[in-house]
Amino acid sequence: MHYMSGNQTFTMIKPIAVKNNKIGPILKMINEAGFRIKAMKFTHLTKQQACEFYAVHTDKYFFEDLTSFMSSGPIVAAILEKENAVADYRKLIGATDPAKAEEGTIRKLYAESMSHNAVHGSDSDENACIEGDFFFSKMERF
Ligand code: ATP
Ligand code: MG
Repeated sequence: MHYMSGNQTFTMIKPIAVKNNKIGPILKMINEAGFRIKAMKFTHLTKQQACEFYAVHTDKYFFEDLTSFMSSGPIVAAILEKENAVADYRKLIGATDPAKAEEGTIRKLYAESMSHNAVHGSDSDENACIEGDFFFSKMERF
């Protein structure tokens, strides 16, 4: 683990949003909400990497769908910095189920369904560290 500063979160722009050409609009919303990009890469998870990333959900009924979807196409992974990053980013992305997401949130605008919900956001400082470390080495963070 690199640090537990509490001012960073981790995000992925999921395959559906990449496919729909929403990388630009989503990064614009992220920047306009006051987040700075500390690390970023365009990559494509293997099925095995998706299973490892979402390991906490291994026993859920949606695990197979989730990991097949997350390995179905390229994603953008990024570490974001802002005061109160984890909570503020969850607010910016909106509810997991886009039908319940607030107006103006990333998921309200760009999600297609519960599984195709456009973006990931860490749910705690600890997971932000773990997830950032999953994708980025020390020298890839700025
Ligand atoms: P994420 O971790 O992707 O940011 P989240 O934290 O809002 O989303 P989690 O509970 O961590 O939601 O679930 C991870 C992902 O699994 C969700 O983004 C969603 O795509 C899928 N998922 C969660 N719950 C369900 C469900 N009940 N039915 C179908 N898919 C689900
Ligand atoms: Mg989650």
